[in-house]
Amino acid sequence: MRECDAEVSLAMIYAARRRLAGRVVRTPLIRSRALSRRFDAEVYLKLETCQPTGAFKLRGATNMLGALIERHGREALARGVTTASTGNHGRAVAYAAAELGIPAVICLSSLVPDNKVAAIRDLGAEARRCGASQDAAFEEVARLVAEEGMTLIPPFDDPRIVAGQATIGLELMEDQPALDRVIVGLSGGGLLGGIGAAIKAIRPATRITGVSLSAGAAMWESLRAGHPVAVEEVTSLADSLGGGIGLDNRCTFALVRRVMDDHYQVSEAAIAAAMVRLLEEEKLLVEGAAAVGLAAIEAHGLEIRGQKVALILSGNGVSLETLDRARALANSVGTSCH
Ligand SMILES: *Cc1c(COP(=O)(O)O)cnc(C)c1O
Repeated sequence: MRECDAEVSLAMIYAARRRLAGRVVRTPLIRSRALSRRFDAEVYLKLETCQPTGAFKLRGATNMLGALIERHGREALARGVTTASTGNHGRAVAYAAAELGIPAVICLSSLVPDNKVAAIRDLGAEARRCGASQDAAFEEVARLVAEEGMTLIPPFDDPRIVAGQATIGLELMEDQPALDRVIVGLSGGGLLGGIGAAIKAIRPATRITGVSLSAGAAMWESLRAGHPVAVEEVTSLADSLGGGIGLDNRCTFALVRRVMDDHYQVSEAAIAAAMVRLLEEEKLLVEGAAAVGLAAIEAHGLEIRGQKVALILSGNGVSLETLDRARALANSVGTSCH
């Protein structure tokens, strides 16, 4: 399989942008008055929460489907596309496939609650119950690919996915060309790798800061080890940042290593406080993974005074139960942030 580090070029990212036009929202970058005042900086928020599926993953899924159709023709996808994500990626694939009139099967284990199954059906995809674990769901995906000729749409480790997410970087550079720093939640690395690939090609001086969970962070451990490693999954308010990077990672590990300037971990308490702050002060409802940038500034005292800084509010997939948990945690820690 090919490497993709050098392959996510500006040309690929502009091609992605053409495929996304009219299908994916060019999201607003808004200046936060409250956060700018608090940190004595210019703080901007990139609202990927405005995507129709509530998260940026629609960019990568839409680009990959578009690229496949361009290269192999629509007939090549007549048997459909598949993935096993229960979260934002599954929603994105379901939505993008429906928009393009391509069948999609999202494999979900029996552990996934009915409302999530219904939400994916609502987006026009077939939500298939397969087995009693996420592993069993992945096995069914592998079978659909091997035996039924369906096409896997991976969540991050493919240059076409990365180039789709990278269109965020283009938009940031257009809206704030002199950005000093972008702070990005990091899991598999499609989001950070893509934004970094775009920005380092346009304005290398802009600092790319990654934020991972403090436990179960596969990219963090892999970077320390110097190669992809597996970690035990833990539950987190930022559930979209869980999961591995793939022991056979061929794209995002090398890319993240190349484009990321610094990297922080954040605790559950810091994520909770940031979620509550964004809701209270900005009236923005975000999931935990989208609050880690603000959490990192607060918890690590990042020196951003006088700088133009963008935070990527990557998604809004949060239930009321999780929001309650975040509020309870933020209150119990006593949000004594200044
Ligand atoms: C997937 C996701 C991330 C992390 O993206 P990666 O490409 O896996 O690093 C961050 N935030 C949200 C809301 C996500 O859905």
